[in-house]
Amino acid sequence: HDYTKDDIRQMAQDEDVQFLRLMFTDLFGTIKNVEVPISQLEKLLDNKLMFDGSSIDGFVRIEESDMYLYPDLSTWMIFPWSSDRGKIARIICEVYTPDHKPFPGDPRNNLIRVLNDMREAGFTDFNIGPEPEFFLFKMDENGKPTTTLNDQGSYFDMAPMDLGENCRREIVLTLEEMGFDVEAAHHEVAPGQHEIDFKYADALQAADNIQTFKLVVKTVARKFGLYATFMPKPLAGINGSGMHLNMSLFHKDGNAFYDEKGKLQLSQDAYYFLGGLLKHARSFTAICNPTVNSYKRLVPGYEAPVYVAWSGSNRSPLVRVPNSRGLSTRLEVRSVDPAANPYLAIAAVLEAGLDGLKNKIVPEESVDRNIYRMDAEERNESHITNLPDTLHNALKDLAADDVMKKALGPHLYPSFLEAKNMEYDAYRTQVSKWERDQYLELY
Ligand code: GLN
Ligand code: MG
Ligand code: MG
Ligand code: MG
Repeated sequence: HDYTKDDIRQMAQDEDVQFLRLMFTDLFGTIKNVEVPISQLEKLLDNKLMFDGSSIDGFVRIEESDMYLYPDLSTWMIFPWSSDRGKIARIICEVYTPDHKPFPGDPRNNLIRVLNDMREAGFTDFNIGPEPEFFLFKMDENGKPTTTLNDQGSYFDMAPMDLGENCRREIVLTLEEMGFDVEAAHHEVAPGQHEIDFKYADALQAADNIQTFKLVVKTVARKFGLYATFMPKPLAGINGSGMHLNMSLFHKDGNAFYDEKGKLQLSQDAYYFLGGLLKHARSFTAICNPTVNSYKRLVPGYEAPVYVAWSGSNRSPLVRVPNSRGLSTRLEVRSVDPAANPYLAIAAVLEAGLDGLKNKIVPEESVDRNIYRMDAEERNESHITNLPDTLHNALKDLAADDVMKKALGPHLYPSFLEAKNMEYDAYRTQVSKWERDQYLELY
């Protein structure tokens, strides 16, 4: 929506909005929000609202802590749930520095920058259709999540197997009230696991939508006494949660990936973009799979990718070409998980693709057989490499790739590496139950 300041004033008045939630996203993908009373609206619309950025992860040092929030008026949305003192509206903001420049440590600003680079390279839009998956767990009497699943359903099951159905339906209805175009909602393969797909949008809006989506899912689940988690692999032995990203690139004449006469009806640009995705796949993994736990999902046997390969038909590879052509020609990157900061993940895959286009990177041949049945030698012959197997190794690849440095920019790239290396170190120095079970009595 192209709202003007006057539209916002009017809507706030008509709907009796009493609180404004000003949202932005930190380095780790966590939504941060400052709630201000409606009396602050004019200040906000004038880009004069300040906040202290010093305690936000990955933001700034104490001495430069005062930051501005510039509202993106197009993101105005009234929450369907309200306080007893009137409605709450949210507006997503860009973080600006004290001297009124876009703050490069704001992941959303960073995506805007990469999208501008894309326009300079001659393209108009980058569309993203995400497929976020999540688990619903029961909560204990203190409102804390347990690891008890709320159902034993499986792929596309219906009630009564799927006890999450009512909750999921309420999530869908709430999303629709908020203007989401929900395309599909279904039980996923694992017990207690669900997927809700909403319509693709341009990259920035898609990232905003993912953030809003997570908030809605968690909020509605609570009303059903359930805890929704986007943790990539909450339970060993069953599927983890991914967030496949379907992507398409547009130029002024339409979908840049489509060519009626091309091989598989894909354009030369689609192949170069794909070449870039595959070339940088190992180094964007730390961004798209940013937790220690993410790597417990990327193992064989649970429908998550493990190898760097693409296919037009097979469902197992890292990049798949879904069957639609014409305007909806797209590439599906299947490694991404919902713990990823969507602004960073989308910037990373776009930068990888743009590098493919710029340097005319030709992808390896597609692999249309089941990679999981190939042995190491066969994979080697087909030039199939592995995705990194730990956050530690993923960070090493990220640290060695200048294209990813460009994707995150000079502020976010070092902060991300530093923060995530610390996270890995914290994990590495723990002693787990598995280790004691395995070794305590053996040695
Ligand atoms: N849950 C699987 C993953 O981890 C995906 C399953 C599916 O959507 N087919 O990516
Ligand atoms: Mg799906
Ligand atoms: Mg799925
Ligand atoms: Mg998919």
